[in-house]
Amino acid sequence: MRCGLLGRKLSHSYSPQIHRLLADYSYELFETEPANLKSFLENTDFTGINVTIPYKKDVIAFCDTLSPCAQNMGAVNTIVRDNKGKLIGYNTDYYGFHTMLQKSGLSVDTKKVLVLGSGGASATATAVLRELGAKTVVVSRTGENNYTNLSKHTDAAVIVNCTPVGMYPDVENSPLDISIFPRLEGVLDLIYNPANTRLLQQAENRNLVGINGLWMLIAQAKRSAELFTGTQIDDSVINTIYTRMQNQMKNLILIGMPGCGKTTVGRILAQKAKKTFVDADAEIVQLAGMSIPDIFSKYGESYFRNLETQVLSKLGKESGLIISTGGGCVARPENYTLLHQNGTIIWLQRDLDKLATEGRPISANVELSHLYAQRQAYYQKFSDLIVDNNKDVQTTIHQIETALEEIE
Ligand code: NAP
Repeated sequence: MRCGLLGRKLSHSYSPQIHRLLADYSYELFETEPANLKSFLENTDFTGINVTIPYKKDVIAFCDTLSPCAQNMGAVNTIVRDNKGKLIGYNTDYYGFHTMLQKSGLSVDTKKVLVLGSGGASATATAVLRELGAKTVVVSRTGENNYTNLSKHTDAAVIVNCTPVGMYPDVENSPLDISIFPRLEGVLDLIYNPANTRLLQQAENRNLVGINGLWMLIAQAKRSAELFTGTQIDDSVINTIYTRMQNQMKNLILIGMPGCGKTTVGRILAQKAKKTFVDADAEIVQLAGMSIPDIFSKYGESYFRNLETQVLSKLGKESGLIISTGGGCVARPENYTLLHQNGTIIWLQRDLDKLATEGRPISANVELSHLYAQRQAYYQKFSDLIVDNNKDVQTTIHQIETALEEIE
C-alpha cells in the first residue's frame, strides 16, 4: 500500500512517524507546488493520502465523491482510492478535534467559546463545538468580532486557537491576552510545536485546562489510517502514540546550583534516551568567544545573563534536547517561559559541601550558602521535578526516569 501526505512544505511533518506507529503501509511526503496539483492527483498511484495546507479545499475538485462530513466542512484532509479507482474525499480533522475536546475534559454546552481564526481548522472546530451546544464566536482579524473588540466577549468560557500564531519558530507570539476573560475555564491550542505555547502557558498560570494540538493530529491520523486500510484501530492507540511522541519531542532541562552535576547527569541521560545533549554555558562561551570567567570580569554579570537568556531562547524552542543550564539562570523569570515551552524542568539537588567550584566565577566569590539562600525559591518555582544527586550518577538517572514515568 502506498500512502502519504500531500502539501506544499512538509519537511517538519510528524505524520510519517505517526502513520508508521499506526499501521504497516509506506507513507511518503508528497511536496507539491500548486501548479502540479492536478497532475499529482491524476497521475500518482496511491492508495490513500492525507492533505494539508494549502490544499484542503483545492483537492475537492478532484474527488469523485465526498463523505457527508467533508461536504459539510468544505474541506478534505484524507483521500482514499476505492477499488474502482475513484477518489473519495473525507474530513478526519472533525473526529480529531472532537476527541481533543473530549481529552480536555471541558464541557462546552451552552457556553460561549471563542474560536480564533477563520480558516479551515476554525470551520472544523466551530462545527464540532456547535454540535455540542456551544455558542461559538469566530474571532478574525478582519471580521465583525476581532482582536480590537474582545471586550464584548469577556464572558467566554473556552478559547480555541485555530491560527498559526505562537507556532515554531515564532514562539514568542500569542494571539491574545487571556487576562480579560474572568470566566475562562480552558484553552485548546491546535498548535503542537511548541507543546506549551505562550497561550497555553497563560492558561497554566491561571490553573485552567490547557491542551495542545498533538492529540488532534494523532486522532485524525488514526481515523485516516482506518480509511486507508479498511480496518478499525483501537482508540487506545491514540494515547500510546501521544505519550511516546510527547516524550520524544520534549526537552529535559536540568537546573540547580553550580557544580551540582547537571552536565554529567545530562550527558548520561542523553546517551540513554538517544537525545542530543546541550550545555547552555558552552553555548554562551561560543556566542561570546571567551570563557565565562572572562565574560564576568570584562563585562559583568548582567551582560552574561543577557547572553544566557539569548541562548536559552534559542534552545528552548528546540525539541528533544537534554539541556544543562547555568546555576543562576533561574534568577530571570523570563527564562522559565523559554525553558518550559517545550520541556520538563528538573532541579538536581546536591549538598553544598559536595558542589564543584572550579572555574565558576560566582561560586568562587560568594559564600555558597548565601547563594543557595538567594536561589532556592527560584529553583523551586522553575522545577517540575526535584531529584537528589548526592549518591552515584546511575541512582540519579534512575530517579529521573522513574519520576518522568510518573508524570506522564
Ligand atoms: P488556515 O486555513 O491558513 O487558517 C488560519 C487562520 O488563522 C487564518 O484564516 C487567519 O484568520 C488566522 N491567521 C493567520 N495568520 C494570522 C496572524 N498572523 N494573526 C492572527 N490570525 C492569523 O490554516 P488552518 O488549516 O485553519 O490551520 C490553522 C492552525 O491550526 C495552524 O497552526 C495549523 O497547523 C493548525 N492545525 C492543527 C491541526 C492538528 O491536527 N493539530 C489540524 C489542522 C490545523 P483571520 O484572517 O480570520 O484572522
